[in-house]
Amino acid sequence: MIRIGLGRDLHRLVQGRRFLLGGVEIAADRGELGHSDGDVLTHAVIDALLGAAGLGDIGEFFPPSQPAWKDADSLKLLEFTFAQVKQAGWNLVNLDCVVVCDKPKILPYREDIRASLGAVLETAPDAVFVKGKTNEGLGPLGDGSAVEALAVCLLEKNEDSPKTKDSPKKG
Ligand code: MG
Repeated sequence: MIRIGLGRDLHRLVQGRRFLLGGVEIAADRGELGHSDGDVLTHAVIDALLGAAGLGDIGEFFPPSQPAWKDADSLKLLEFTFAQVKQAGWNLVNLDCVVVCDKPKILPYREDIRASLGAVLETAPDAVFVKGKTNEGLGPLGDGSAVEALAVCLLEKNEDSPKTKDSPKKG
């Protein structure tokens, strides 16, 4: 069985915060505002994984109202999420992402971001991809006051995993 998942997130960019994408710090004069470390890309990836596995969403797993998640390392949240996804019998086939902001440029950081996410998701380097897109100067994404991330993932479950073991086999 295979399933796809879609995640999307947006954070305001403000002075005095770090700009993190997939756990990689980007050189910028502003960073993501957020209860956690604000890593917009990692949050989108978490929602894609949870959605594909049918487990919930990031707000349920890590409520902003809980002090435990204040300034939390989003890669740790991703690690916890992926453990739940694997526990449910799923393997990650691939992950593809888009980060939307006019500045800074994402390309110089792309390989580091792929490696960082790939390490947590225990996958081959070519199974994780990240693209930067501009917003053509339009709106908050175009003027540097926000950054958006989108992620889509494909999960597969082995036919022999517990949840599908008793389902009737064809032939
Ligand atoms: Mg977020």
